[in-house]
Formats: sequence, C-alpha cells, structure tokens
Amino acid sequence: MSELYRLLPSVDLILQRISESGRHAHLPRPLLKDLVNVHLGQLRADIRSGKLTASEELRWPALEGPLHAFLDRTSRPHFRRVINATGVVVHTNLGRSLLARQAVQAVTEACAHYSNLEFSLDTGQRGSRYTHVEELLCRLTGAEAGLVVNNNAAAVLLMLDTLAKGREVVVSRGQLVEIGGSFRIPDVMARSGAVLREVGATNRTHLHDYERAITPETAALLKVHASNYRIIGFHKEVSLREMVALGDQHGLPVLDDLGSGNFFDFTPYGLGHEPTVQEAVAAGAAVVTFSGDKVLGGPQAGIIVGRRAYIEPIKKNPMNRALRIDKMTLAALEATLRLYLDPELARREIPTLRMITATPDELRRRANKLARSLRRTLGQSAKVVLLPGSSRVGGGAYPEQDLPTTLVGIHPIVHALGVETVRDRLLDVDPPLVGRIEHDAFCLDPRTLSDAEHALAAQVLASVLHP
Ligand SMILES: *Cc1c(COP(=O)(O)O)cnc(C)c1O
Repeated sequence: MSELYRLLPSVDLILQRISESGRHAHLPRPLLKDLVNVHLGQLRADIRSGKLTASEELRWPALEGPLHAFLDRTSRPHFRRVINATGVVVHTNLGRSLLARQAVQAVTEACAHYSNLEFSLDTGQRGSRYTHVEELLCRLTGAEAGLVVNNNAAAVLLMLDTLAKGREVVVSRGQLVEIGGSFRIPDVMARSGAVLREVGATNRTHLHDYERAITPETAALLKVHASNYRIIGFHKEVSLREMVALGDQHGLPVLDDLGSGNFFDFTPYGLGHEPTVQEAVAAGAAVVTFSGDKVLGGPQAGIIVGRRAYIEPIKKNPMNRALRIDKMTLAALEATLRLYLDPELARREIPTLRMITATPDELRRRANKLARSLRRTLGQSAKVVLLPGSSRVGGGAYPEQDLPTTLVGIHPIVHALGVETVRDRLLDVDPPLVGRIEHDAFCLDPRTLSDAEHALAAQVLASVLHP
C-alpha cells in the first residue's frame, strides 16, 4: 500500500502537466492547486479503502482523464443553465419564466450603462424608480396607481403592513393557502402585524360569514387566489364583486392577492377562465397584488395596483425601501409590460405565453422534429418514440389543467442502461437536462424545449447513452 502512495505524482508535477495540456488555463492558480490537492486526497482515500490497487492506475496517463473531468466539474459555476424538458412552463425550481428577447435586451442595456433610474430627465433632479412602470401598469390594468416590489410575497406583506397593522383582516378559511417555499398566508399576516379573522368553513364561505366578522377593529377584507389547489364538490366562494359591495357598505377596502396574475385571457386557447388583473380592478378591488414571473412571463417582482388612496400610503411605507426592485428587474418588467400593449404581440414574444398557448398540432410537429434530431444523433443507442402526454402551466396556476402535448420518449438500448440511470446522469452533464419518466421511457416535452435546444438536447443525451 505504501508502495502505491509513493507512486502518486506530486502536486507540482501535476500542475506542470496541467499547464502543458493547455486546459483549465482560466482557473486561478491557488484554486487549481487546492482542487488538485482535493483530488489527490480522494486517490489516497481510494488506496486506503482498497478501491485502488493497480499501480498502472496511478501513472500520469491513467490519472489525467479523471483529473480533468474532476477539474471541469468542480470549477464550473454553481448557478447554471439547465434544459427544461419537463413540460412545466412556470417551473419554480428551474427559474419560472424566461424573459422575452426585448426584456433581455433591456436588462443588458440597464446593466452596462448608467440610466435615469432615480433621475428625472425633465427637471435634472432626483426622480423615483417607481415612475418608470406606473403609467404602463395603470394603462394595462385600469388602476389609478401602482408600484412594484421584489416579489409577490413582499407585495402582500407590504400591503397588509401598511393597511392593516394591528387591526383585523377577514379571510375565508378556504383561502388560507400555503404557496410553497413556506409562504403561508396566516404566517405572512402574522409578520405584517395584521390580525387574521378566519371565516366560513374550509369548503364553503358565504357573504354573511364576512358580514358577521366585521367589527370596528376590521381594516380590510382579503381575497386570496387558491392558486395551487382546487376544491371540487360541495363548495362556495364569495365573488370579488360581492365582497366589494359589502366592503363599500362598511367603508372597508377589499384586497385581492391574485398570485399568478395576468392581463391575458387564455380561454380562447382552451384553458379555464382565471380572473385577469383588469377584471379584479374593474370589480372594485382596492388593491391587487400579483407576481411578475409567474404566468405574466416577466422578471421576479411583486406588482401592486389599485386605488390611489391605498397605493400612496403603501409607497410611503419605510418597509418599501427594504423590498425595492433593482434596475435589472425594472428594465425587464417595463419591456415585458410594453409587449402587453398589443396582446397578440405579447403572446408571440413572451416565452411563457407562447409555451402555454402552443397548439397540440404545433407540439406534434415539434415533437417529430425533435425525434428526428435525436434519432440522427443517438443512432442505435436508443429507441425514440412519440407518446401522447400532458404539460402543466406550473407556478401554482391552473393546478388541474392538463395541456395536451406530444412527448418524445427515449428507451436506452446500450449497456441495458435503465431510464432512472439516464435521468440521473443527465443532471451531471453540461448543460443538465431535466425531463420525466413516463411509460417506462425518459420523456422530453417539446412545449418547454425551444427548437434551438434540440441539437443540444441530442448532444447531452448522446454523452450519457454512450459515455
Ligand atoms: C405565488 C403566490 C404568492 C407568492 O408570490 P412570489 O412572487 O412567489 O413571492 C403569493 N400569493 C399567491 C396567491 C401566490 O400564488
């Protein structure tokens, strides 16, 4: 064993060999040295455990390949691009919405140059970062005023902190939802200092339930979009309009957390009706909050619109400063909102909308194209088939809605590789590819895979199927 240890090359020799190979030249030398030490440590541990016994394995030619692979793997950025072949459009774990190219361009401009972020070009004096999108938001939603914060959780927190701190907010029990990532309405309310007044039963809440809960302590009535779940069967919810009528009688604002808010009507594309932001504003909600990066298809943001009398104090809340959006978000959001001025342009240009509204025919065509590309690249190593399947909107929107699609299924043939192994190994390639297993095949959904990614997907699959 000690014989084997002695065969291990020194760090300096290895560094020299790496330098001669011309690879990893971009790695700072101290980091390279640390990584080589880590790798040598692993080799020593393998000798100790008896995993490594042959002296040939410790000579440079044999060490070289695994060392380069180790350096490639450990030195690449941790936060990386991933290919989403899951068919879940607003995939929260994979970064929710992709930005439209106009938004990407606006972000690039905003980062590379100085801007009028908080500078008024009319007066040459200090300006406000919030004015850039307020007018657009008002035009698109019909609201009197608006502002944008870091995300919708922040929007809800800020709204309640401003309008209901230390007072009561009436909410239906059926709407006390958990969104995921530990965002729970009751917890956010507690943090904001608003006191939760639950009314109704889990499945049914009536107008008189709200009415009976109103006391001099009541600050507002809150409606929360149930987002990620549906109650089916014996069920009743009070409409926003009814809540507004009740609120008006008592001089109370109705706050509406729409969650995955949108300006776009998806019913012509076969999806069920979801209230748009315009509808919530028109129904008389005092304040409406929604996410920028869910079905809206923009950057991460929490958008707050509504009546000026309620929005102004929200803007002035000191907490707003802690939740403010940065210039990249602002640039992306303005560019995205501009596209909505023409809904058809928005549908074509905003990736989230384009993916959700892709037709079954189009998806079948794209599945065929993807299958041809995969067959060409994978050859005899896999059988590629087309399968009927369904995609999801994701992001807590349309939880029960199946979007019909055509999946491209892969059955590995070589080395009797299992589909689970293929799925796992695809996470360790560059870029990683995330798909799903259905009908015993590893499946790719063309809905979330752009045509430009077909060749790349084929290439990473090939690297896994014939390593
Ligand atoms: C998603 C969601 C939130 C949280 O929004 P983020 O933008 O993820 O912070 C809040 N409320 C509802 C109803 C939601 O669906």
